[in-house]
Amino acid sequence: MRIYNTLTKQKELFKPIEEGKIKMYVCGPTVYNLIHIGNARPMIVFDTFRRYMEYRGYEVQYVSNFTDVDDKIIKKANEEGVSSEEISTRYIAECKKDMEGMNIEPATVHPQATLEIEGMIDMIQTLMDKGYAYEKNGTVYYRTRKFKGYGKLSHKNIDDLESGHRDESHALKVSGADEKEDPLDFVLWKPKKEGEPFWVSPWSEGRPGWHIECSVMSKRYLGKTIDIHAGGEDLVFPHHENEIAQSEAANDAPFANYWMHNAFLNINNKKMSKSLGNFFTVRDIAEEYDLQVLRFFMLSAHYRNPLNFSRDLMESAKNSLDRIVTAVSTLKEYLANASDSPATEEEKAVLKQAADLEKKFDDAMDDDLNTADAISAIFELVKLANSNATAESTAEFITGLKDEIQTLAGVLGLDVEKKEELLDSDIENLIAERQQARKDKNFARADEIRDELLNKGIVLEDTREGVRWKRA
Ligand code: AMP
Ligand code: ZN
Repeated sequence: MRIYNTLTKQKELFKPIEEGKIKMYVCGPTVYNLIHIGNARPMIVFDTFRRYMEYRGYEVQYVSNFTDVDDKIIKKANEEGVSSEEISTRYIAECKKDMEGMNIEPATVHPQATLEIEGMIDMIQTLMDKGYAYEKNGTVYYRTRKFKGYGKLSHKNIDDLESGHRDESHALKVSGADEKEDPLDFVLWKPKKEGEPFWVSPWSEGRPGWHIECSVMSKRYLGKTIDIHAGGEDLVFPHHENEIAQSEAANDAPFANYWMHNAFLNINNKKMSKSLGNFFTVRDIAEEYDLQVLRFFMLSAHYRNPLNFSRDLMESAKNSLDRIVTAVSTLKEYLANASDSPATEEEKAVLKQAADLEKKFDDAMDDDLNTADAISAIFELVKLANSNATAESTAEFITGLKDEIQTLAGVLGLDVEKKEELLDSDIENLIAERQQARKDKNFARADEIRDELLNKGIVLEDTREGVRWKRA
């Protein structure tokens, strides 16, 4: 496997620290709202990486956090008049639902920042003891210039960074608001403001900065040095650069051997983001498409290329995925009546071609996770099946082709079994049960039915005349 490593700016042969094992950390979302499909890109991409490595026989320890304390969460909590914890608990649950819909395997561990504060205080204290951190009026800062490798991930020169900050820092100095020793220094711990959640620390009642969270959770669950650290490319600077500075200074060990970053999901060639307001949530997409289609769409491009979201591309992803599903379902029909006699010589030759295509798939994935070419290999397999399998083929032959397609699609996390269609009467029965549940104030069951139907592509609309439904 060759991986493009942001640290060295080249594709490198992947060598794990421990034979057969991979320790991997992926920065997860800040949970203050439903996730958008930009956030879904790293989830899908790195879940696919994990599945592929597992298929190649590795044991993958996959850790992905939820950032559950943050200004945006506090703001949302204040708007709704509830606690930050209520907001983060709600959106972690919603995020897990979306992940399930996109067929993303739960991480080995999903740590939450607020449950790891003790570890953060410990690491900050270590940094203080070693002279890498200092406290001013209850805030603790990282002494950036003291860390000699600063800038090595983002390939930035520390003096250029300094000059970028000069105007801002001058203004702050004049106003007396700047208490940092150096404008490059960043926050490790900050004191609470009125009404904010806080924890007791040696420096103030307050909360950790964002970067220290990942350094601590990665170390706790995976150790001082890990194989792979991953996330979206916007995290390279400053988030990952700061994580390296913190972890390497505190642990006296390299932090991560390989750094993988996905490019943005764009819309009209602009980054999709909550702050720009140009986003679709995963939930929006689920109203119209099976989320397998979204997964297919994401994997149809290489993860380091920007991907522009459009309805046309989603339609084309839907049609492509349907072609695979139809091929598998046709093979299943043939299989029902296929003969048990051994595969013919001709059939064996075709199965050999299928094995070559599996090799092609593996080679594509080995080349820095080239899912676009891996999907092409699956389509060649589909073509091979469509043009060679018939009602007269042997069971051995049909099973060989079907398993090959399903296995490779499965490595990409794509379920290509035809979904059982719900009959209209089943849908109506479920809707009636939901209405009753609502009358009984059993809203949990009512929501469950709504989600269950949505999962099967049935969208409910509550109108004044009652509930209407349609197939997505
Ligand atoms: P956030 O909740 O903003 O911290 O983002 C969680 C993850 O989603 C990070 O790895 C981000 O880099 C990634 N991300 C956010 N927006 C996009 C986007 N438009 N395209 C690709 N990745 C994104
Ligand atoms: Zn992180």
